[in-house]
Amino acid sequence: MTYLDANATAPLCEAARKAWLDAVDQFPGNPSSLHRIGSRADAVMERAREDLATMLKCHADQIIWTSGATESANLVFHHLSAVIDPERQILVSALEHPCVVASARRYFGSRLQFIPCTPHGVVDLAWVEKVLEQKNSGLVASMAANNETGVLQPWLTLQQLCQAKGVAFVCDATQWIGRNSGAGLGGCDYLLGSAHKMGGPKGIGFLKIPGPGFTNPLQVGGPQESGRRAGTENLPGILSFVAALADREARIAAEEWRALSGHREAFERALLEVLPDAEIVGCSTNRLWNTSMVILPELADCQQRWVVKLDRLGFAVSTGSACSSGQEKTSSVLQAMGISPDRASRALRISSSWENSGEEWRQLLQAMVQISRAG
Ligand code: PLP
Repeated sequence: MTYLDANATAPLCEAARKAWLDAVDQFPGNPSSLHRIGSRADAVMERAREDLATMLKCHADQIIWTSGATESANLVFHHLSAVIDPERQILVSALEHPCVVASARRYFGSRLQFIPCTPHGVVDLAWVEKVLEQKNSGLVASMAANNETGVLQPWLTLQQLCQAKGVAFVCDATQWIGRNSGAGLGGCDYLLGSAHKMGGPKGIGFLKIPGPGFTNPLQVGGPQESGRRAGTENLPGILSFVAALADREARIAAEEWRALSGHREAFERALLEVLPDAEIVGCSTNRLWNTSMVILPELADCQQRWVVKLDRLGFAVSTGSACSSGQEKTSSVLQAMGISPDRASRALRISSSWENSGEEWRQLLQAMVQISRAG
């Protein structure tokens, strides 16, 4: 089976697997225990925190380990709901992942305003600038890279705009980290990250906060993470996450992504030759090198069949819609981009990992041609 659904979750990379196995063998202790086995576990956990902070260019005490980006989103809005002036409006990009939208809605309700995006799937900076001028906003939340389209978002500009206006900025970098350099992301006030999209293990992530004063934990019942998140830390997950990240950052520095991006480009070019009515979402703007969201032509029938047929031919890809309890719902991202429900229902998301080859992209193309010819 060829796996091309890394934006859902990526296979564990070798560096992460080795670090996880080493961790369970060598560091069995609880980092909070006072004996030497506990202290050793605590020491490696703190070193991992330093490594992550160095990569993001922030301080280690600004990192809180969590179980993943969903928990980080809930934690950050839980905290911010207690500190942001209740009169202020909350601006959340219409492109956000459901974990950001739902937790922001839970804590801020009707104060939530959605930031529109351009037809290319980029958050509308001019809109944000104009609204911030009104001086009644308390928070802006915008992701770094979109999980459906791969479109990169102007997080640095947004952080600067928010900083100039004294407005908190929350950035979900789940799909960016481990694919593009994380350097500088630590400058965002609040940053969400997760290990399992780029080759780390599932069940580990982090929330980066601006500094001291994080006094409103979501989980209580223990002193872990300096009282900011109760519960025994997932040490094998942490060490495995940081090992995966080190591996990915080295590949990013060596520009290995250029060749991988080339495989994606070649696939898209060839696909448009054989299916000229297909559309590549977000292709006229900067995207993650691994993601291709394709709207297939009308005659190709609904996307469910493509996904199922590709699965039968040995390819795991994803639809462009949110799927809950087996019910397909139009993607809110594609809707925000002005893509009609009919076109959105024909969207297919292909997302590779660092380990996928050009040959796999070529074989996927052949499978798609085979399906389209069979009708
Ligand atoms: N944010 C984005 C952009 C995502 O793509 C995902 C997962 O699909 C999440 C958050 C949730 O991450 P986790 O699985 O770590 O809770």
